[in-house]
Amino acid sequence: MGGFFGVASKKDCVWDLFFGTDYHSHLGTRRAGMTVFGEKGFDRAIHNITNSPFRTKFDRDVTELKGNLGIGCISDYEPQPLLIRSHLGTFAITTVGRIDNLEELVEEVSTNRTQFLAMSGSNINPTELVACLVNQKDSFLEGIKYVQQKVSGSMTLMIMTEEGLYAARDFYGRTPVMIGKKEDGYCVSFESFAYINIGYTDEKELGPGEIVYITPDGYETISPPQETMKICTFLWIYYGYPNSTYEGVNVESMRYNCGAMLAERDNVDPDLVAGVPDSGIAHAIGYANRSGIPFARPFIKYTPTWPRSFMPTDQSMRNLIAHMKLIPVDELIRDKSLLLIDDSIVRGTQLRETTEFLYNSGAKEVHIRPACPPLLYGCRFLNFSRSNSEYDLITRRVIREREGENVSDEILAEYADPDSGRYEQMLEDIRKQLGFTSLRFHRLDDMVKSVGIDKSKLCTYCWDKQGDCSSCKNCPGKSGS
Ligand code: SF4
Repeated sequence: MGGFFGVASKKDCVWDLFFGTDYHSHLGTRRAGMTVFGEKGFDRAIHNITNSPFRTKFDRDVTELKGNLGIGCISDYEPQPLLIRSHLGTFAITTVGRIDNLEELVEEVSTNRTQFLAMSGSNINPTELVACLVNQKDSFLEGIKYVQQKVSGSMTLMIMTEEGLYAARDFYGRTPVMIGKKEDGYCVSFESFAYINIGYTDEKELGPGEIVYITPDGYETISPPQETMKICTFLWIYYGYPNSTYEGVNVESMRYNCGAMLAERDNVDPDLVAGVPDSGIAHAIGYANRSGIPFARPFIKYTPTWPRSFMPTDQSMRNLIAHMKLIPVDELIRDKSLLLIDDSIVRGTQLRETTEFLYNSGAKEVHIRPACPPLLYGCRFLNFSRSNSEYDLITRRVIREREGENVSDEILAEYADPDSGRYEQMLEDIRKQLGFTSLRFHRLDDMVKSVGIDKSKLCTYCWDKQGDCSSCKNCPGKSGS
């Protein structure tokens, strides 16, 4: 994933930029950058944040950079923001999203003998490709619209020129963009909570595909939002920060709704309800409040010396680290029946190990309740995980064991239907493989109700393959008209 923050201020903006960008650290673990424009022109710092957090890495830059315009980002993949000089002038650019048709676009622009800097592994920096697409046109506005038209996947971006910032939400609004306001100017933010403590108040949430131009004196919509929205439901379930609100729905409150609806359908009577730290906690509070079963923390994360950003790429090391962070509270586990809520089950490895760990610590029963339905499809729209195969998902591995390699869309749809026999069989196989006492997922209809936004406006692709608008011929703008 990734997140960004920008400021257009009448005063020096670097401290606002520093804290605002830092508040996006939960969205990425690899690279971070800040670029400013001031009296001395453009200036930039980019660091690897794999082993130490943003604030530590940028503590010197924050005192050296000067400017009243700035953009910063946290990135899970490419180094950003990039500084570009072209016929449009000098500008900085940062992006959040995923280019599903990257090779095709590289091929297309390469017919003009364009060059790209190769990243390690010979990969193209996707943000550089976006800059290249912007440069195909005669203005930033036309260039950004061209990006929205050409990119399959999603592309939310910010461009900083010497005069102001362009902010564009991706065409289907899968990720959010907010504008905040204070006396000295404006900020642009992925997360709506990121500007509260630095004195900004909510000013505007961009609509799907909307493009806004922001200066220290004001902002204007230079391309209106389009009708169709497919905002990512996983924002609320897992990766959005609890204090944030998207499309009027707060993350923490939505998670309480999820837990409450899970409790309403449940038929077990555990001693305690717990959440897998951190993203399962709010769902568990919602479950406990609705069921009347006490909420507890039978294992607690040791955070002081484990910065979240320490995430090696090797999966077994990631699992080991996840395990080392969690320390049991014996009194809350021994001889107890526990109901444990996690945001989702992806590979299942960590939850299996957590369950084993609870049994080894004396738990009698471990009932698992993921806060979303079974994940059946990999995300094509956001840079979520680096896995290349849907067989990384435990659901798909179980389905392959039951059905063989080639499974039709109709059969997969049956596995997504919580009232079907195939769904029940899949759950039982997962339960056995992962060693749970019982397993019950949140239903898709209940999850949509937990958000409270009409399903037609949500992306639910990773659960039911709904929300991919790229094949829709009638979407205004995508056709280039
Ligand atoms: S596929 Fe899933 S993770 Fe990706 S945008 Fe849609 S809901 Fe979000």
